[in-house]
Amino acid sequence: MVEPRLVEDYHGETASDRRIPRSLVIWDETLRDGEQTPGVHFTPEEKLEIATMLSDAGVDVINAGIPVVSEEEARAVRTVAAAGLSAKILAAARTVPADVEAVIASGATHIAIFVAASHVHLKFKLRMSQDEVRAAAIRSVRRAKEAGLHVAFVTEDTVRAPFDFVERLYRDVQAAGADRLVVADTVGVMTPLTFRWFLLEFRRRVRPKDLSVHCHNDFGLATANTLTAVECGARAPQTCVNGLGERSGNASFEEVVLTLESLYGVRTGVRTERIHEISRRVEELSGVPVAANKALVGYNAFSHEAGIHTHGILAHTLTYEPIQPEVVGRRRQMILGKHTGKAALVEKLKERGIVAPDTLLLELLRRVKSEAESRSKEDLRIFLRDYRALFEHPGISDEVFWAMVDAVGIRAVSA
Ligand code: MN
Repeated sequence: MVEPRLVEDYHGETASDRRIPRSLVIWDETLRDGEQTPGVHFTPEEKLEIATMLSDAGVDVINAGIPVVSEEEARAVRTVAAAGLSAKILAAARTVPADVEAVIASGATHIAIFVAASHVHLKFKLRMSQDEVRAAAIRSVRRAKEAGLHVAFVTEDTVRAPFDFVERLYRDVQAAGADRLVVADTVGVMTPLTFRWFLLEFRRRVRPKDLSVHCHNDFGLATANTLTAVECGARAPQTCVNGLGERSGNASFEEVVLTLESLYGVRTGVRTERIHEISRRVEELSGVPVAANKALVGYNAFSHEAGIHTHGILAHTLTYEPIQPEVVGRRRQMILGKHTGKAALVEKLKERGIVAPDTLLLELLRRVKSEAESRSKEDLRIFLRDYRALFEHPGISDEVFWAMVDAVGIRAVSA
């Protein structure tokens, strides 16, 4: 007799429609876009620590930052690039000669050259024509290639740009030597189906040698869109640990990696058991708390309270867990609370080798529920008050800013 499958699995049936590249390149943006999270700043030493953790965990490419931003940022990129990590170290540059030279001087072996592509960016932000953008892009790519760098070319807002311009621009930079083309959903407006259409059209019209995507999470779709892109042949998905990044952040490192590994059955080269530790450390260094219900790394991801669930988990973990917590370096937690059932108490009592009769178990259960229901929420209220005070006003306070204005000697003049 054939053993029945433990769970139904549709991935095999749907996989034929996918064009997943054979060797994926996990490109992490935590130190660049992640650092652009409002209020976040990493010192060079902190960047080195995060880069080392990511590299040791098997991440392929690490964007260390934009050296032209400041002296300290340049030092951070140099420090990470000189650390001898196994990951490839990338630094970013606008299509401006000084930016590209700063990357060349930083010791990074990889560069991401970026420029905006949509009408709204060209007209209102860059004040450049499409021809000017194209010329600057080609010039920058040529210079970086001449210096021996691996060149990725990125446009901001690719998906809201005129497709004819996108096609011409990317074809030209690829002809000028760009090794990898990056499509960016800078304001997170793609859905999996629209992005699929865009990328298949992009592949048909541009024929990229190597495709990467950069997805934002404004509508909570960054991970889904990134996976869609991988299904459409994108080889280098970009991620940020804990989903950090501008506004609502980028596709989260842990979600993208674990979905590929556990649902798609694709090897990413990432040692997934390191993921929780990395998430916690980035939470500490960034100061951005991970939501309790965040997939895979949030406090609740492997916690069970409800009686029916706990009972199921104790019988077989597959009942209410898609993967074992150990896969991401965590442990399962059984929570005693209002929704606890008898099975959880039986299990808990085993810790002290106790077997209790049913009548006493029921009395214990009554007390556990009543204790949970009468617990004060005061601690949580104080925590939330402090949390909100911190996050409602990130960055430099008005008080400090206006003191700086005075110190610099800027005075009000009558208009
Ligand atoms: Mn971004």
